[in-house]
Amino acid sequence: MRSSRGNNPCPVCGRTKDTDCRWNDTTILCHTGTDLRPGDTITIAGIKWAFIHHKGGFSGMAAVFKPHRDRNREEWKRDLRRPTPSSPAQLLAVQQKRTQWLDVLDQFFAAFDAAWNVPDFYSATPDQLKNALTAIDDAQAKAAALAPHLPTIWREHPDLKQLHRLRVEDNLKAIAYMADDARQFKQNELGNPCSVAVRAMAEGL
Ligand SMILES: [Zn+2]
Repeated sequence: MRSSRGNNPCPVCGRTKDTDCRWNDTTILCHTGTDLRPGDTITIAGIKWAFIHHKGGFSGMAAVFKPHRDRNREEWKRDLRRPTPSSPAQLLAVQQKRTQWLDVLDQFFAAFDAAWNVPDFYSATPDQLKNALTAIDDAQAKAAALAPHLPTIWREHPDLKQLHRLRVEDNLKAIAYMADDARQFKQNELGNPCSVAVRAMAEGL
């Protein structure tokens, strides 16, 4: 690609002060930006170029122009409609994600129940104790994996938020307490040093 410079101005903005604008016969990446809207055209040296979008180039901030192919407004509108969730394919994708998240939430609730129902550490048999600590570790791992996704899940699926948000938040708090209990028990009774990672996870919830 060619770059804007002293004797080689950008065909769109006329930039010469640096090499930020680049172009060849099929694409112009102009870093000055434009007020044009997708589908608008400009004429450069007798050739029509169409403005495509604002997110081009390595920076993701260049205005992208392509040679104009006589597309009518309806075609542009159809293209622009594609990213919105109104098309059947988009709706299907949202639906599939919802199903996946519901599955993740179910696994989280199951892990929580397993951890919640462990017997008292001090009266448990060694096998029960081992299973109890494993169940709490598992619930804690699932909580740590789920937590960063919650804002996205609640935003994209309001029905899941309405149904499950309170329960998830209660469970997360309870898991943090259970994990802390287990950590203290291990420290006091089993002499296990507490790993920094486990402590950070417990405190981060
Ligand atoms: Zn330019």
